[in-house]
Amino acid sequence: MTDPQAANVLTYVERRRDGAPAAVAFEILGKARELADAGGGRVTAAVMGPAAASLAPHLIARGADEVYAVEHPALAAFTAAPYARALAEVAAAVKPAVILVGATSQGRDVAGAAATFLCVGVAPECLALTAGADGTLTQTRTTCGGRVLCDMVTTSRPQLATLRPRAAKPLAPDAARTGAVVSFTPHLAPEDAVVDVVAFVAATEQLNLAEADIIVSGGRGLGKPEGFALLHELATCLGAAVGASRAAVDAGWIPYAHQVGQTGRTVSPRLYVACGISGAVQHLAGMGTSDIIVAINKDAEAPIFKVATFGVVGDLYEVVPALIAAIKERHA
Ligand code: FAD
Repeated sequence: MTDPQAANVLTYVERRRDGAPAAVAFEILGKARELADAGGGRVTAAVMGPAAASLAPHLIARGADEVYAVEHPALAAFTAAPYARALAEVAAAVKPAVILVGATSQGRDVAGAAATFLCVGVAPECLALTAGADGTLTQTRTTCGGRVLCDMVTTSRPQLATLRPRAAKPLAPDAARTGAVVSFTPHLAPEDAVVDVVAFVAATEQLNLAEADIIVSGGRGLGKPEGFALLHELATCLGAAVGASRAAVDAGWIPYAHQVGQTGRTVSPRLYVACGISGAVQHLAGMGTSDIIVAINKDAEAPIFKVATFGVVGDLYEVVPALIAAIKERHA
């Protein structure tokens, strides 16, 4: 690549409610480092909100060359519009070739709004990102309800993409890495924070589905709402979050926040245990990239077995209690 600027990458640092960087922030930094290194470019991380500069050492240790610490009263708590506006302002200052944001609920909001402010396209929910010889980013994502992978290239610049959680590996922290910290004040008015955050209330689940390493999911095959009590027991044994198919959500057995699939959450855990879920394309669209899929279904012909790494043909009300007992015995 002749122009190293063509490999400069800006990442949006999503923060957890306690202010620390979310896991996905380190994952996209790892991907940004890989893309930048391929063309001799730089990685800039934009972190917003209170005490933003305090996160700089962590971000530099994970691959950033430069951290823009963006503070402003309108960024006191996360709301999409001012955060996206601030990201767009950092992009205008840094002029990256590529902007990466995590494909989380926060990241989707920020990326969509930032794309509008920057007048660029956005490639959402990418599974893979590769840079060509001239630095052009090829963005790989699913389409047709998850049945097809497509490579796309956004033609506007900078190229803006959201990357799914766990689609990239974070770098191991290296405390010896050095980088610059830039204090940045965006041109926001307090009224840019159009939403007043009064309080955060935990919806239903302590573990964030998108970030969970392990997910135990239930579908219509549970037959009754009480079936989720059994899945919660298995989830507790495994340190997992609980997901659900739309059929289970529509039946009112579990709140929508747990729904996995095309119109629910997109997840990509190391282990996904599907209990009484048939494997409709709309469900697969939300979990098909999981590393290991275990399917428990009494119908040997269920489509879920086509994508499962391990399949158990049987009644979940026999298989799941046996699994729980085996795990408890092992941990005893
Ligand atoms: P079913 O398809 O009814 O499967 C139940 C399975 O349980 C069967 O395979 C059966 O063999 C098995 N079973 C029954 N009893 C037992 C037992 N005792 N032990 C073991 N196995 C048992 N779906 C989603 O999940 N997420 C989405 O986001 C989503 N979005 C959609 C968007 C659109 C536009 C549309 C049209 C549909 C969407 N759907 C979505 C719905 C999707 O098409 C399926 O209807 C749904 O996923 C089916 O859920 P299920 O697998 O739980 O139920």
